Amino acid sequence: MKTRTPFQFQFPIILCIILCLFLVTETMSLAANYDVVINNGRVMDPETMYDAVSNVGIKDGKIAAITEDKISGKQTIDATGMVVAPGFIDGHQHCIEPYAYRLMLRDGRTTIMDLEIGAHGPKLNEWYKRREGKAPLNFGVSVAHEFARAEILDGFKDWKYLYTPDAISSRVKQGWSKTRPTLEQGNQILALIDEGLQQGGIGIGSTLGYMREGVSAREIFELQKLSGLYGRSIDMHFRYTPGDDVGEVNGIQEMLANAAALGSPAIAAHFNNPGYNLVHELLTRMSEKGYNVWGEIYPYAAGSTALNAVFLEPEVWVKALGNKYEDTIQDVATGEFYTQKTREEMLKKEPTRVVLVYKIPKSAIVDWIKMPGVAIGSDGMPLFPDDNLTWDTPYEDLPNTHPRFSGSFARVLRIARENNIPLMQAVSMTSYNYAKPLGNMGLKAMQVRGRMQKGMVADITIFDPKTVTDNSTYEKGTLPSTGIPHVLVNGIIVMKDQEPLKGVNPGQPIRFEPAESLFEPISKEKWQKTYYAMPVDFGGGVPGSQPDMH
Ligand SMILES: [Zn+2]
Repeated sequence: MKTRTPFQFQFPIILCIILCLFLVTETMSLAANYDVVINNGRVMDPETMYDAVSNVGIKDGKIAAITEDKISGKQTIDATGMVVAPGFIDGHQHCIEPYAYRLMLRDGRTTIMDLEIGAHGPKLNEWYKRREGKAPLNFGVSVAHEFARAEILDGFKDWKYLYTPDAISSRVKQGWSKTRPTLEQGNQILALIDEGLQQGGIGIGSTLGYMREGVSAREIFELQKLSGLYGRSIDMHFRYTPGDDVGEVNGIQEMLANAAALGSPAIAAHFNNPGYNLVHELLTRMSEKGYNVWGEIYPYAAGSTALNAVFLEPEVWVKALGNKYEDTIQDVATGEFYTQKTREEMLKKEPTRVVLVYKIPKSAIVDWIKMPGVAIGSDGMPLFPDDNLTWDTPYEDLPNTHPRFSGSFARVLRIARENNIPLMQAVSMTSYNYAKPLGNMGLKAMQVRGRMQKGMVADITIFDPKTVTDNSTYEKGTLPSTGIPHVLVNGIIVMKDQEPLKGVNPGQPIRFEPAESLFEPISKEKWQKTYYAMPVDFGGGVPGSQPDMH
C-alpha cells in the first residue's frame, strides 16, 4: 500500500483554503460596494405593500438592495425593532429656512415644499439658488398667485425672502385680497405667474380663501387653465376655508369643477375642516375616474394665520360662521385670547400678527388619519422675529408657533398607534400620498421618492413604531419630535441617533426643467371668436355682471 507524501495529503486542504479565501474576499468586495446598510429593520413600502424585516443596501444615493441576506457596507445602521420607511414628504411647509431644518429632520421629513403660497414668479430661480448645496433635505416651491396680485394691485416690490415669509409685509396692504383686477391687470398677474412656471415651479399656489371678494370665478378658472397648460397642479386654500360644512365643500367644488373641465391637476390644501367627509369622497371619486386631484391635512384642531385674514372679519367669523373671538382666536406669542375690541386694537398696531384659530372639535383628528389617499402637509409657518435665528438656535429659544410646524408627522404615527389605524396607512400618508400624484404630473424627482424599492432614491426615515411621538404644543410649538433616530437624504445620513448633522447638505431641488412659455394673454379678438361675450374686467364675462345692465 502506497503512503501519501505530506504534500499529497495536504493538497486538497490547501485548494479548499484558497477557494474559500477567494469566495470570502469576493463577497466582502461586493459588500463593500454599499455606502450605507440598514440592517434588521421592518421595511415598509406603501406602493407594493412590502412589509418585512430585511436589510437595505444603499449605493450612490439610491436603494441598491432590499434583502433578507446579510449585507455590509462602509456605514452601518442597526434598525432592529425600527420601521424603515420612505422619507417623509411635506408638501405644505411655509418655512424653508436653516433655522427650521433640525426640527424638520427630527420629525422625519426629508422633503419640504411650499406649494400653497409659494414664491413670486420672477424669483423662482433665485429662490432655488439660495438653497442649493445648503440644505440637508430636499426643497421645492410653487408659483404664488397672491404675490403676483400684490405686485400688480398693491405695487408691492419689497421682496426679501421671495416666498411666503414676505407675506408679513405684503399683506399689510389689502389690494391683493380685495381688488378685482381689470382685464389688463389680470393678464399681468397671469404673466408674472407664467414666469415662475417657465422657471420650473411646481404648479401654482393660490390662497384664494384669503381673497374671497377680490378673485372672480373667471380669475381662478384662468389660473387653473394656465397651470394645466404645463400639466401642473394648482394647490389651493379654497375659497371658503375656513368655513362651515356647506361653504367648505362649495369651495372645493369650484376647484374640482375647473380641474375636470381643464384636465389640470389640483391639490386641496388642509381640508381638515367642517365638511371633510364629503370633500374626501369628492376627491376619492374623482381620482377613481382618473383625475389627478388629491388632498392633504394637518392633524390639529386649530389652525394658524395672520390676524387680518378676511375670514376673521366679524361679518364672516362671527356673523356668518357663529364663532366668538373669546373662544377661538388666540395670540401665538402671548397665549391670550382676543375679543372683538382687542382684535381691532391689534390690527392698528400689527395687522399681520400671527394667531391660532380653533375651528373644529378634536375628535375629528382620528377620522382624518383613517382616510385613505390623504397626504400630510404640516402648514408650518415662518417664525418671527427671525433676525438672529440660525441652524444652531436652541429649540426652546425659537419664537413660538403652531405645533404643526415641528410635530405633524410624528403626531400622525402616534395617533395611528393609539387608535389601531394600520401602520401602512400612516406610512403612506406621510410619504407616498404626496409623491405619487406629483410624480403622475411629470415631476421626475417624485417618481423616484416616497417608496422603499430597489432603484428608488434613498430618502429614508427610521422610526420606533412603539415610541414615536410629537412633543410640541400650542404653548411651546418648537419642541422636537422623538422616536425617530435616523434620517437619510439622497443616500447620505443627515441625522444619526436623533442628532441632526450640521453641514451635511445633500438636499436636492424639487422642480421642473425650464420650459418655454405656454401663456396666451386673453384678448378681445380671440375671446369673441370663441365665446359670445368679452369680459369687461377679470370678472365672469357675463353681460349681467356689466355696469350698463340697466
Ligand atoms: Zn392655508
